[in-house]
Amino acid sequence: MRFEYSPAPESRSVVRLRDSYGLFIGGSFVAGSSVFKTISPATEEVLAEVTHAGPEDVDKAVAAARQAYERVWSEMPGRERGKYLFRIARIIQERARELAVLESMDNGKPIRESRDVDVPLAAAHFFYHAGWADKLGYAGFGPSPRPLGVVGQVIPWNFPLLMLAWKVAPALACGNTVVLKPAETTPLTALLFAEICQQADLPPGVVNIVTGDGATGQAVVAHPGIDKVAFTGSTEVGKEIARACAVSGKRVTLELGGKAANVVFDDAPVDQAVEGIVNGIFFNQGHVCCAGSRLLVQESVQDEVLAALRRRMGTLRLGDPLDKNTDVGAINSRAQLDKISELVGSGEAEGAARWSPPCPLPDRGFWFPPTVFTEVSQAHRIAREEIFGPVLSVLTFRTPAEAIEKANRTPYGLSAGVWTEKGSLILWMASRLRAGVVWANTFNRFDPSSPFGGYKESGFGREGGRHGLEAYLDVVGGGDV
Ligand code: NDP
Repeated sequence: MRFEYSPAPESRSVVRLRDSYGLFIGGSFVAGSSVFKTISPATEEVLAEVTHAGPEDVDKAVAAARQAYERVWSEMPGRERGKYLFRIARIIQERARELAVLESMDNGKPIRESRDVDVPLAAAHFFYHAGWADKLGYAGFGPSPRPLGVVGQVIPWNFPLLMLAWKVAPALACGNTVVLKPAETTPLTALLFAEICQQADLPPGVVNIVTGDGATGQAVVAHPGIDKVAFTGSTEVGKEIARACAVSGKRVTLELGGKAANVVFDDAPVDQAVEGIVNGIFFNQGHVCCAGSRLLVQESVQDEVLAALRRRMGTLRLGDPLDKNTDVGAINSRAQLDKISELVGSGEAEGAARWSPPCPLPDRGFWFPPTVFTEVSQAHRIAREEIFGPVLSVLTFRTPAEAIEKANRTPYGLSAGVWTEKGSLILWMASRLRAGVVWANTFNRFDPSSPFGGYKESGFGREGGRHGLEAYLDVVGGGDV
């Protein structure tokens, strides 16, 4: 049965957009070399003008971060640093609605997700790391581990505020200062976060935010005053950064792409598995590095699972990201929509069968319907390449060994899912899947205390948990755990 829903739009009035935003350097918003516009991907409306940071602006940001590192932050006792992190976490909670609405406007993701996932998790990351700030000596890295210095952080557009929290919270807890570059298409919540830093009375220069495009990111990464680079984004740019850091001796962690297998065995509860498949690939329009973009379903239950999946996909509501009923929002940019369309075209050209539920698309903005491909072979591009959109490729297997073989046949290794009633099979699979995260009978679950990161071309280093702290501490010689 299909229910009709009346529109339930979240009000935009809670957000006070400025016409123009400067760069956040040394605790103040300052002018930069040029400007660009950020738009709503759902309507193509211009939301604000944002400053493009050139090399000289990045230079100022790094200088501010260095000064704050040497004079204030690295010398401050952990219990004092922790208080600032707690304060930031509380302000994120207090301003949660404003952050969620702004995130959905700038990114295109459904308000249900920004409100219930992105913003609460961002606050949780600051709470969690606030707790570590005065306990680093007990984290297993020796009695008094030292911070690294000034950290350059470059983040993507798929979870703008959440990726900021993943990067900034551990860096600050460990005593580092930060120069962060948000993605060109989604700078607004990072700039609101800058206001939150002011509100929290964070010492000037501890967090600096330089908006801009890939060239700004490159300037941050290449700057000689940066001690460590933390990057989340495409594997292609990640490789470039790894090469640049290898010759400069900077510390680096990379969180890159993925092509996760979501493996459904014949004894899995079908309805729950279908919810997991839908969450795995249609959450955030599939703009998720750990998305379950390859469904591996056991051949004997293929028809049953696919029929249930198609029924469920028919109930997904695509449209206004600010409508509380919306399940699938807008694609983040025209460039990303073109990339998805090109890869989907290759799937059809290579002989896979494409299906989407009836799904009218809005006239303006960037949209792609939830899509599933069957009759996919391992050689097809849609089975190998990261689409980063709401597109699922279905493959089948007969035995657990074949499932492992197919799941691992990818240059990536970020995440995987296993759906079965048997605990022993879950453990057997988990120990053989070459993926940083393996979810069992669930998918896309995140927690600040749980380390996240990849193998192979999905990058290296972990974010979250005790492992994530190591990336921001000078633990050369190894920890004692
Ligand atoms: P990029 O890797 O290009 O962008 C990620 C961040 O790095 C952005 O802030 C970007 O700036 C910046 N950047 C770009 N080039 C450089 C550079 N040479 N040096 C330093 N920083 C740089 O991802 P895209 O946004 O272009 O997306 C391309 C594809 O990457 C997507 O289609 C998707 O497949 C994948 N992707 C994967 C993500 C993941 O989490 N694994 C996240 C995002 C994308 P700017 O935004 O201004 O270009």
